[in-house]
Amino acid sequence: MKKIETDVLVIGAGPAGASAASLIHKAGLDCMIVEKELFPRFVIGESLLPRCMDLLDEAGMLDAVKAQGFMVKDGAVFKRGKESCTFKFSQQFTNGWSYTYQVPREQFDLALAETVESFGVPILWQHAIKGVSFADDGSSTSVLQLPDGSEVSVSARFILDGSGYGRVLPRLLGLDEASSLPLRESYFTHVTGDKRPEGDGEGRIWICSLDDAENAWMWIIPFSNGKTSIGVVAKPDFLSRYPEDPDEKLRAIVNDNPNTRERLDKAQFCFPVRRISGYSISVKKLFGKGYALMGNATEFLDPVFSSGVTLALESANRAAKTSIRELAGEKPDWQQEYVDHLMMGVETFRTFVNAWYDDRLPTIFYSPVKPEVFQNQICSVLAGYVWDQENPCVRQHARAVDAIAKTCREMAESEG
Ligand SMILES: Cc1cc2nc3c(=O)[nH]c(=O)nc-3n(C[C@H](O)[C@H](O)[C@H](O)COP(=O)(O)OP(=O)(O)OC[C@H]3O[C@@H](n4cnc5c(N)ncnc54)[C@H](O)[C@@H]3O)c2cc1C
Repeated sequence: MKKIETDVLVIGAGPAGASAASLIHKAGLDCMIVEKELFPRFVIGESLLPRCMDLLDEAGMLDAVKAQGFMVKDGAVFKRGKESCTFKFSQQFTNGWSYTYQVPREQFDLALAETVESFGVPILWQHAIKGVSFADDGSSTSVLQLPDGSEVSVSARFILDGSGYGRVLPRLLGLDEASSLPLRESYFTHVTGDKRPEGDGEGRIWICSLDDAENAWMWIIPFSNGKTSIGVVAKPDFLSRYPEDPDEKLRAIVNDNPNTRERLDKAQFCFPVRRISGYSISVKKLFGKGYALMGNATEFLDPVFSSGVTLALESANRAAKTSIRELAGEKPDWQQEYVDHLMMGVETFRTFVNAWYDDRLPTIFYSPVKPEVFQNQICSVLAGYVWDQENPCVRQHARAVDAIAKTCREMAESEG
């Protein structure tokens, strides 16, 4: 069996893996990525948040992303019947980026992977991790399998797992844990023929509430290549009210809602509708001796606020920096420097996700009267600035969301 040695083995060439490898390489360590697939490959998760721009920049990848000509996303629009609420990233509490991009992930992930390869990081394409064993000092030996069945072994001083939905180390080490969120499913495709708003609103994501007591919703994400990503997220009992065939189901849901019907009545599906279920998952721990988990290999909450790639890049940034210190012989405090930091952002998004589904956030979004200061604080969370302790919606997220919802309710009542 062929044997390879490296300082850091990164699993997965998605946004978490590619950006972590870039930072490790910049620090002068030997690093390689193993990727099960050959890119370009499809993955869902196409609407970025402005916070991604800082993190891509730090990883040396922002210029490559800017060169792709992706659709500029300067905000998000929430719609429920005739009610509408627009967040513009130029009007937010935190001093951050005022725009980001809507990205077909085949193209985005390929651009990141090619960039990190151009820096000199080897990517072993179509090598899938099958097994790993750790020594007492944290060093490891991993067995990788190629499509022809042959195997390669990699010895590494440290492993960063960015294997996303593959969840390599959580599975191999028995770290998976059930999510605190109930089961939801998603049906999605890309379309042509989307009647987009004209002007500067063209690139904004639309989140359309459907006629459902538990806030089922649809996304509309326009790309610069003329296609648009659409998808529905709901509990199984909502989805079972529509035809069984996935194409017919999504078409019927689109036609059932005035906002989606108006925009998408001439839309042609580009590929058969895909389904993903049970994507909300958690993990028992985020690091151990000789490894750390990043991105979707950690905890994935819910797609409603497009937080996935932002959390993947933030966790990769922190995990890479902490492992660099460890491999330099320092004794970083992983709990404090990595876990506590990451969870500050995750918990803020968890509060927002729960408040979306229990109707507190829609109450705020569609309130006819809403102080601008609240709008801007919420906008910064929706922009991914969930580590800004100056923002009350981050520092005391649960209390802030409760208080703003109560204020909006009271103001609406007193307005009559
Ligand atoms: C319905 C839905 C909609 C979403 N919408 C959004 C959105 O609009 N915006 C957003 O930011 N996020 C969104 N997400 C979340 C987003 O998909 C993920 O958070 C994001 O892709 C995580 O990036 P990652 O780098 O951790 O993993 P991935 O992008 O999944 O990359 C992991 C890589 O690891 C590789 N791999 C897996 N197993 C192995 C193995 N055994 N050996 C080697 N390599 C392996 C895979 O092939 C893959 O290339 C959505 C999620 C869902 C379910």
